[in-house]
Amino acid sequence: MVRKCISCGTREDMIRFENEAFIVEHAGLKAKIEGLSGWRCGDCDEVEFDARSAKRYAAAGDKLVLQDRDRQRQEIRRIRRRLGLSQVAAARLTGGGHNAFSRYERGEVTPLPAVVNLFRLLDKHPELLKELV
Ligand SMILES: [Zn+2]
Repeated sequence: MVRKCISCGTREDMIRFENEAFIVEHAGLKAKIEGLSGWRCGDCDEVEFDARSAKRYAAAGDKLVLQDRDRQRQEIRRIRRRLGLSQVAAARLTGGGHNAFSRYERGEVTPLPAVVNLFRLLDKHPELLKELV
């Protein structure tokens, strides 16, 4: 069986690999997935997983996205409480509607990076809150 790389268009055939470990990363989180198989381009290193391996690789990535969302959800709640803000008061400060924080903290909605960044800043410098309210 011969495979060509669709990524770089080299004339070389892709090279078969079996049972390799890959690291998947998301937002600083990492997971190792063992036993993946597929084809690799010798020129550009592009990898084409077999169907079962592709599914496992994608599932590991999805899991990291959920882990990151959970971590962020807890972080937002911790900082809001530390600042002594109710969910409504926090939403008034950052916009997004009066339910925004209960939705962030239940993990229903991902807050904008601007909200997360503001809260991280206030976590380090809580005295700046009085400049905002
Ligand atoms: Zn290639």
